[in-house]
Amino acid sequence: MCTVPGPTKNLVILGSTGSIGTQALEVAEQAGYRIVGLAAARQVDLLEQQIRKYRPDMAVMYDESAAAELRKRVADLPVWVMGGMDGLCQLATMSDADMVLNSVVGMVGLRPTLAAVNAGKHVALANKETLVAGGAFVMDAVRRTGVKLLPVDSEHSAIFQCLQGCPPQRRIQRLILTASGGPFFGRSIAELEHVTLADALKHPNWSMGQKITIDSATMMNKGLELIEAAWLFGMTPDKIDIVVHRESIIHSLVEYDDNAVLAQLGTPDMRVPIQYALTYPDRLPCPARQLRLEDWKNLTFYAPDNEAFPAMNLARSALTMGGLYPAALNAANEVAVGAFIAGRIGFTAITRLAAEALEMSLPTPASVEDVFAADSEVRKRTRRRIDTMK
Ligand code: MG
Repeated sequence: MCTVPGPTKNLVILGSTGSIGTQALEVAEQAGYRIVGLAAARQVDLLEQQIRKYRPDMAVMYDESAAAELRKRVADLPVWVMGGMDGLCQLATMSDADMVLNSVVGMVGLRPTLAAVNAGKHVALANKETLVAGGAFVMDAVRRTGVKLLPVDSEHSAIFQCLQGCPPQRRIQRLILTASGGPFFGRSIAELEHVTLADALKHPNWSMGQKITIDSATMMNKGLELIEAAWLFGMTPDKIDIVVHRESIIHSLVEYDDNAVLAQLGTPDMRVPIQYALTYPDRLPCPARQLRLEDWKNLTFYAPDNEAFPAMNLARSALTMGGLYPAALNAANEVAVGAFIAGRIGFTAITRLAAEALEMSLPTPASVEDVFAADSEVRKRTRRRIDTMK
């Protein structure tokens, strides 16, 4: 945690058309970094624009037919276009790349992270599934290769920042993750039965993709962040607490053995944590709005409502159960969120389906392939369950 990589200049961005990806491009441009590779799922128009602007050597569309379309569109440029998982992994291991920012959504992100780490690339991580599902294998590879795994998520970045200057003996008593509480803060389970997709997509403080916005509404997002924090910072679940902080000004905290608590604050703007991951350990000027505490007057804090939002405790249980259970929880949740977005299930069914994944009997994983196998098994099972739900 204390060695410092050299200045990072050549950057690969996986998920460049998403919310994190587009902001990362803005940050990288300001920092004067060279973009050597870009990847997206299927937004051909935007990826084409990005290729024309940033002139990477290689570009990938995860969707093969989108890759074929992109190849035609940029035939006038010296850019190598690939598709699929092979493309993502090739991009993540490009010999020119110093750092890979992984902001793809979903399990698709795990293999490219492992490929990048194994190829000795520093990774700025915004893909949750990498650590939630593959934590043990990814952290093993990070230790073996000595690369930096730098958090992009605002909460983990805050903790990482509060750990700078941490004594070699660590002396960490507790990590405290802040949660905005999402759009349904203060509602009871009964009230949550009838909320709509439009309601769930109204996040009070952050503008993010659909999957993560729904996860914020169920608070599964905070549960997944708890699992990630455990892996990133080597903490057991009992030493990670969650506090609801409505204003999203304090991004998370670290409590040391002397009961001193360090917090990282700022206006909610993802460009700050993205930039810190890219420029670490340096700090450059950032276009994010300055924090003026006097404009806020009151910052509020609440204990999380684990009855209305059981997802946080489900994640804690999955982490305690270990092995494949966090991956199973994540897989069931991802399918359930998709079904909710498609209008097939109600809001509270998301967490109920996620809970069922923890009732399965799962073997101890011997390799990361077992994680992928469990992931697809749980997905199948969850889809079948949804089919029976009318
Ligand atoms: Mg977050």
